[in-house]
Amino acid sequence: MAARIFCIANQKGGVGKTTTTVNLAAGLAQIGRKVLVVDLDPQGNATMGSGVDKRALETSVYDVLLESATLAEAMRPSPQGGYDVLGANRELAGAEVELVELERRERRLRGALADAPYDFVLVDCPPSLSLLTLNGLCAAHGVIVPMQCEYFALEGLSDLVNTIKQVHANLNRDLEIIGLLRVMFDPRITLQQQVSEQLKAHFGDKVFETVIPRNVRLAEAPSYGLPGVVFDPASKGAQAFVDFAREMAARLGRPAPQPETSPP
Ligand code: ADP
Ligand code: MG
Repeated sequence: MAARIFCIANQKGGVGKTTTTVNLAAGLAQIGRKVLVVDLDPQGNATMGSGVDKRALETSVYDVLLESATLAEAMRPSPQGGYDVLGANRELAGAEVELVELERRERRLRGALADAPYDFVLVDCPPSLSLLTLNGLCAAHGVIVPMQCEYFALEGLSDLVNTIKQVHANLNRDLEIIGLLRVMFDPRITLQQQVSEQLKAHFGDKVFETVIPRNVRLAEAPSYGLPGVVFDPASKGAQAFVDFAREMAARLGRPAPQPETSPP
């Protein structure tokens, strides 16, 4: 079966996209799925947070977008994450300009991921609605939107929803919002509970059941080159992401084989 491809997108920075990408990847790997993370952010945080040194990359997602390397050539295994990484570094910032001149400029990633030998591909998008993000959206079956339950979060969402509608109408009929993921959640904060209720009222079952709590272990993990799920499996944040991986797999009709079965 061809890979299911998802963008982790939100044009705001610091909302938890990268944390969601690497931890969902590690969580899906733990329940026996073959996963590729594509880092589409020139900051390379998903690359570093997966234990792959962005400064040492000879080939990266940049080369794949410009078709000077294949996915198989450019990907690296995450040493401890249990998944593969198509890494990014500052070079990727240049791709934005170089791609504009090229044909099929928004479909480069889609081409590279066709027949990719994975169950899931997770694309960590940069904090913008740029040509890089557009490459992610054109390649994907769906979008996962991490968001903090703050007042302005709802405002920002309408731009993203409109972009997704336009891409759906003009470039990629497969694209849909899979769901909104509440992250960095603190139930003691009344405003967060209120925004959470508004989200459910407005988006219904597009709001994932799993809620990711604010948890310092998730924030500490990247400096060790590890997803939080691997860094401290017993932490509340790690457990929430494993729950989220199960929810995703179940929602997409690919439930876990057996809770206790280890991957082959
Ligand atoms: P983005 O990729 O959207 O810019 P990040 O995933 O890098 O966002 O998260 C922004 C910051 O918040 C990072 O320092 C990250 O470690 C921290 N962070 C993300 N999720 C959580 C969480 N659930 N609890 C605590 N800190 C978090
Ligand atoms: Mg990021």
